[in-house]
Amino acid sequence: MKNENVIKTCYSILRNVTPLSFDCGKICNGKCCEGDNKTGMLLFPGEEKLIDPDMTIYKNENGDSFAVCNGVCDRNKRPLACRIYPLFPVIKNQHDAEYIEVDFDIRAACPLLSGDFDVSRAFFKKVKRVGKYLLLNEETAEFYRGLSDEITEYNELKNIFENS
Ligand code: SF4
Ligand code: SF4
Repeated sequence: MKNENVIKTCYSILRNVTPLSFDCGKICNGKCCEGDNKTGMLLFPGEEKLIDPDMTIYKNENGDSFAVCNGVCDRNKRPLACRIYPLFPVIKNQHDAEYIEVDFDIRAACPLLSGDFDVSRAFFKKVKRVGKYLLLNEETAEFYRGLSDEITEYNELKNIFENS
């Protein structure tokens, strides 16, 4: 599957699902859309051509692409990072077999991480499905594995810190 098609499929999986049954932006004033012109959403391979053309794209020193928006967007053209936020489908291994476990993204500054809200099970399931699709293209899978490893490291450090 081409990387663009993987991303299009992921967009479509998440099209009709939201973290809460109401607009969660109402509880935080849309905190996750408050970036400035230096903060951007990391783009997956092949995503640059699919997002809102009004967004500015820049590359960091590692060659990763980021999109910067002005705090409003066409929902159908927002990056995948915005669509799965504040969850992440972490790749795990057991007995040499890979599986995906969806959890809150430890890096997210989002009130939903407090556990005080009933985050939709359907949202969790769809983010898991997205994880499975991201593994269907070699380039996308490599990029995704890198992100997943990064989040696993954050989680491990958090556990060490909490248990010390
Ligand atoms: S920060 Fe969290 S609660 Fe607020 S709009 Fe973003 S996803 Fe919703
Ligand atoms: S692209 Fe849309 S959803 Fe993503 S941060 Fe910008 S305004 Fe928010």
